[in-house]
Amino acid sequence: MTNEELVEQLIKDGYLKTQLIIDAFKAIDRVRFVPEEQKQFAYKNYPLPIGFGQTISQPLTVAFMLELLEPQPGEKILDIGSGSGWQTGLLAYCVGTEGKVIGIERIPELKEFAEENVGSLETIPQGMIKLLEGDGAKGFEAEAPFDKIIAAAAAHSIPTAWKEQLKVGGKIVAPIDESIHVLERKSQDEFEEKRYFGFSFVPLISEE
Ligand code: SAH
Repeated sequence: MTNEELVEQLIKDGYLKTQLIIDAFKAIDRVRFVPEEQKQFAYKNYPLPIGFGQTISQPLTVAFMLELLEPQPGEKILDIGSGSGWQTGLLAYCVGTEGKVIGIERIPELKEFAEENVGSLETIPQGMIKLLEGDGAKGFEAEAPFDKIIAAAAAHSIPTAWKEQLKVGGKIVAPIDESIHVLERKSQDEFEEKRYFGFSFVPLISEE
């Protein structure tokens, strides 16, 4: 299987719809984000081990969540649980050179793995992506507010810090237990919430 075939399948199954996100999936090849021994499975539509008990997310889940997030050129996006850096790279492609993506990962070795992976992308200029080691449940105050916040590890509820660090008009897409929640900030203290069921995620590990 090739990346082209994976992308075609995700379009056919209705997960990928938006041209910008389709282009991102074509440019930011998943094979660059998996360990050597997993490269032969890179285009399979399932999660793959990346070490430290973690996985690179399933392509259909990433596609579904990015379609909900609607990343746009010029936006500043916080990516929590950046793991291999694949989704971080996809987001960077979407926001473009006028935008910025900040990835937070709690496992130092994975933060380094992601740095190597995104560093090797010809389509993403250096400096557009900032990767940090830390607890993403706290968000990242120093770069707030964000246009969008996305998480790849499931909490039991949306951390308060994410809501506080989101712009009015902004959006959070995050797994809560086995479902995906979309939170839109309508005003300073008004949030609109939607849920999508039937997914599975690794847990968000936090002291918060
Ligand atoms: N989008 C990534 C997903 C990796 S899985 C990819 O496709 O590679 C989710 C990641 O969240 C794991 O790497 C895990 O270590 C990380 N994680 C879990 N709890 C976290 C926390 N509190 N802060 C930051 N990262 C966390």
